[in-house]
Amino acid sequence: RSRTNLTWSKAACRFCGTGCSVMVGTKDGKVVASHGDVKAEVNRGLNCVKGYFLSKILYGEDRLKTPLLRMKDGQYDKNGDFAPVSWETAFDVMAEKFKEAIRKNGPTAIGMFGSGQWTVWEGYAASKLMKAGFGSNNIEPNARHCMASAVAGFMRTFGIDEPMGCYDDIEATDAFVLWGSNMAEMHPILWTRLTDRRLSAPDTRVAVLSTYEHRCFDLADIPMVFTPQTDLAILNFIANYIIQNDRVNWDFVDQHVNFRRGNTDIGYGLRPEHPLEQKAANADKAGGSQEMTFEEFREFVAEYSLEKVSELSGVPEQQLVELAELYADPDRKVVSFWTMGFNQHTRGVWCNNLIYNIHLLVGKIATPGNSPFSLTGQPSACGTAREVGTFSHRLPADMVVTNPKHRAFAEKVWNIPAGVIPPKPGFHAAQHNRMLKDGKINAYWVQCNNNMQAAANLNEETWPGYRNPEAFIVVSDPYPTVTAGAADLILPTAMWVEKEGAYGNAERRTQFWHQLVKAPGESRSDLWQLVEFSKRFTTDEVWPKEVLSANPAFKGKTLYEVLFRNGSVDRFPLSETSPDYDNDESADFGFYLQKGLFEEYAIFGRDHGHDLAPFERYHEERGLRWPVVDGKETRWRFREGSDPYVGKGKGYEFYGKPDGRAVIFALPYEPPAESPDEEYDLWLCTGRVLEHWHSGSMTQRVPELYKSFPDAVVYMHPKDAESRGLRRGQEIRVVSRRGEIVSRVETRGRNKPPEGLVYVPWFDASQLINKVTLDATDPISKQTDYKKCAVKIVAT
Ligand code: SF4
Repeated sequence: RSRTNLTWSKAACRFCGTGCSVMVGTKDGKVVASHGDVKAEVNRGLNCVKGYFLSKILYGEDRLKTPLLRMKDGQYDKNGDFAPVSWETAFDVMAEKFKEAIRKNGPTAIGMFGSGQWTVWEGYAASKLMKAGFGSNNIEPNARHCMASAVAGFMRTFGIDEPMGCYDDIEATDAFVLWGSNMAEMHPILWTRLTDRRLSAPDTRVAVLSTYEHRCFDLADIPMVFTPQTDLAILNFIANYIIQNDRVNWDFVDQHVNFRRGNTDIGYGLRPEHPLEQKAANADKAGGSQEMTFEEFREFVAEYSLEKVSELSGVPEQQLVELAELYADPDRKVVSFWTMGFNQHTRGVWCNNLIYNIHLLVGKIATPGNSPFSLTGQPSACGTAREVGTFSHRLPADMVVTNPKHRAFAEKVWNIPAGVIPPKPGFHAAQHNRMLKDGKINAYWVQCNNNMQAAANLNEETWPGYRNPEAFIVVSDPYPTVTAGAADLILPTAMWVEKEGAYGNAERRTQFWHQLVKAPGESRSDLWQLVEFSKRFTTDEVWPKEVLSANPAFKGKTLYEVLFRNGSVDRFPLSETSPDYDNDESADFGFYLQKGLFEEYAIFGRDHGHDLAPFERYHEERGLRWPVVDGKETRWRFREGSDPYVGKGKGYEFYGKPDGRAVIFALPYEPPAESPDEEYDLWLCTGRVLEHWHSGSMTQRVPELYKSFPDAVVYMHPKDAESRGLRRGQEIRVVSRRGEIVSRVETRGRNKPPEGLVYVPWFDASQLINKVTLDATDPISKQTDYKKCAVKIVAT
């Protein structure tokens, strides 16, 4: 307790994947203040402007406090108006709709869309309910739109997901290369650390590559604006430069690397034993070999000459050489950071593979200051979406539903009969909208995301799906978002410190917090909603008949009994919850729900390269980076002396691969899915701004943040405005083949696009720029490309 009579407790920031720790001040049952946590290694007492105003995200005037159902004449009606109902009625109607969908069209007729904003146990409970309860793999996190390409990139190159390095690399390196990452606005605290390193160690160099100038260019020693999609060619040029200039680290390459042809679309970037990967390998064996020699790889990249790539990308030759030298110079350590510029790309997986190629060729990996580092956008994109396995093809700890051994392991941990988890991956995120539109998904539950604002091609794909009379849509949210407005049933949701939580950030750091205040009205957490809903179903209603006849002991049990009140999740008594904090969910269910879910989930990762510490430890620490073995976290993976999984005398071991070797892939440049033409003559790139997080549903309700950036604008080059007779501030229409929005011209400020490109932030619900974007996805990761499509700008 301080002199101000506030109680201070630690929590993870609610917003980005940086994963800052904050101190949260409460008084009289309300959060009244927050500040950066000085004990936190990540942010060392700092917060960005969003973190500074965290306390206010809970108290928007339009906070939802009761379930709302579309009603007409006292009954549910798809075209009725929202009316308050009890939780009892809400779950009754919802359960009826879910049962009807399963009865008519089987378990693939239901779906769930969550996010990397779920807490670890919420994502785990959701995945378990869908895959082990309803027998449907149609669950996806919105992380599919965010970093699915990074996941597939890791799996293809290393056979195991998530970065090998950590944020400590920032202070240890000599050079930073930013690929499609505006860290100054999207990961501001990491940008602060990077800036500190650049200014305090003057020989440090910063290279920034983007399709438009943004705030990171202020610090760039090598600023590069390239033509969209040509990053593929630039990456191959760097590999070519390293080889041509005899800078390959042969000690490293000979011992730790294989070369493979990689231009196959088959597979999800899964583990090598995955049947689709096997199929790809066999297909290639039939016409040659998937393996290739270094000589063949050298020949493959030789076509990416300096002259050719400079012309294709628009980056001057001198800058390309300076960039390549950062990697090639044996005396310089280098960190590559990337985010959506790489991942939201029709060849996002290839971009990830190609950056690993470069680090592997020079052996600059997994040592302090040498790190290819994929950043994440959401607070628990790693901890929940990836590690828990909330994707339609995944199970916890990098396991996949298509692998019989992995399914058997999951069924054993979950103590359910063999055959409940379906072997086929569910629909991916972009398909969810199409399946709703086509009447193939009939009951759908959205938690923790704002898909009607975030999904691409909203007009043609998302809206028709959500409003299809054959679909019943449930949206859980603290606020009436665009998505909630398109729903049939809205469930009011407890957020952030209104519940006990855990997030995992981009450097594999798992962080916990306690419930600090009560949620308003009848709001309940996503976890409570999932577990409570499971009481409404019996195994007879959802499991295959043959499974039940072989396992009669399960007949007639509720999913709640089988999945949660089952001797595994309910083994920790309520008395183990902290006496200093509320725990509303556990109190309602009569056991320590969060601990039970976490400890069961941890079984998947222990001894499988993803070891987590015991539950209590995380409430004491400012997070720990997995694998946590013998009580110690791991900062650099794959290297002897740092990673407990690397054997003595090995030096490095990429143990995700059967032979311990990482893979360098030969992958070509490929043109984008859509380019400007005579009619639609400009590139469109979308993204975020510092003041608002994602769709702005929280930050737009903080007056200080709202006023600092109230409306989205169209950033464009002054010459592009002039040639169209447009003035700064003028109202215009942004039009693509799919839709249009009304916005205003901005020719000054933080973003400076080159001629021929416009940049539009997507946080503004009154300007749904995703009516315009293209829903083309990477064929491997199924991640959507929000960074490039063709538009025209016309005066209103
Ligand atoms: Fe840190 Fe990101 Fe939160 Fe800002 S938004 S305080 S950078 S976690």
